[in-house]
Amino acid sequence: MRIASVAGRAVVVRDDGFVDVALASEGTLPSETTALVAQLDRLAAWYRPDMDLTETIGATELARDGRLGPVVASPSQVFAIGLNYRTHALEMGLMTPPKPMVFTKFPSCLTHATASFPLPSDEVDWEAELVVVIGSGGRDLTVEQAPGAIAGYCVGQDISNRALQLLGSPAQFSLGKSHRNFAPVGPWITTADEVPDPNDLRIQCRVNDTVYQDASTSDMIFTVFQIVSYLSSVCALRPGDLIFTGSPAGVGQGHRPPIFLRSGDVLTTTIERLGGLRNVAE
Ligand code: ZN
Repeated sequence: MRIASVAGRAVVVRDDGFVDVALASEGTLPSETTALVAQLDRLAAWYRPDMDLTETIGATELARDGRLGPVVASPSQVFAIGLNYRTHALEMGLMTPPKPMVFTKFPSCLTHATASFPLPSDEVDWEAELVVVIGSGGRDLTVEQAPGAIAGYCVGQDISNRALQLLGSPAQFSLGKSHRNFAPVGPWITTADEVPDPNDLRIQCRVNDTVYQDASTSDMIFTVFQIVSYLSSVCALRPGDLIFTGSPAGVGQGHRPPIFLRSGDVLTTTIERLGGLRNVAE
């Protein structure tokens, strides 16, 4: 099932239209995705594919017309994992970390699949990432328990102002990755039952017509389930929390000389099974 947010309301997205979950269920299911992702069992038990559509505007049009909001508007936490692909750590000239390297993208930078974003310096870079959406969540989850805590997956861009991210020693990543609209997530949440293996998905990123990143999530150093387990050993994971799981090789910073985004550049990010983002640099 594909779950999205239209005008702040949780919907089930189909090719032929969408169903407003709270409206169609007469309020028995939540109106926001943050709460709904913790109740996917109830949603699945209630939903029927022949249900009346709230609107006959389907998945492609919703994404193209920018009617979808960020998949979760106000998660309590947004985690991001740095250097989780060996080839990316190498191109950044950094060591692969012994444990997941964790920072945050502050939630105010979340935006939808087709949002444009500013260039606060001339060193703004791209990072295509698989994003985990936490469902029931919890604490101290084992790797085996992790799948049960996950609602689904979406595509994310960890847009990065390298000038601010790498300023100072030791560098503090979070602010340089949290400018306005620096975290497009979407276009919708694909529920976990439709993703047989989150660590076997092709992930790509294009700037204009040039493919810069083309890899598989099977190349991650720490798998999705290992990351969820690790984070839950420190923090309680709550419904709607997001985890950016790291970016493969091919970011602008990794080139000699580096390549950064210019005004008007079109950033296209896609993941097999999950859809795509299209974001323009302002
Ligand atoms: Zn990243």
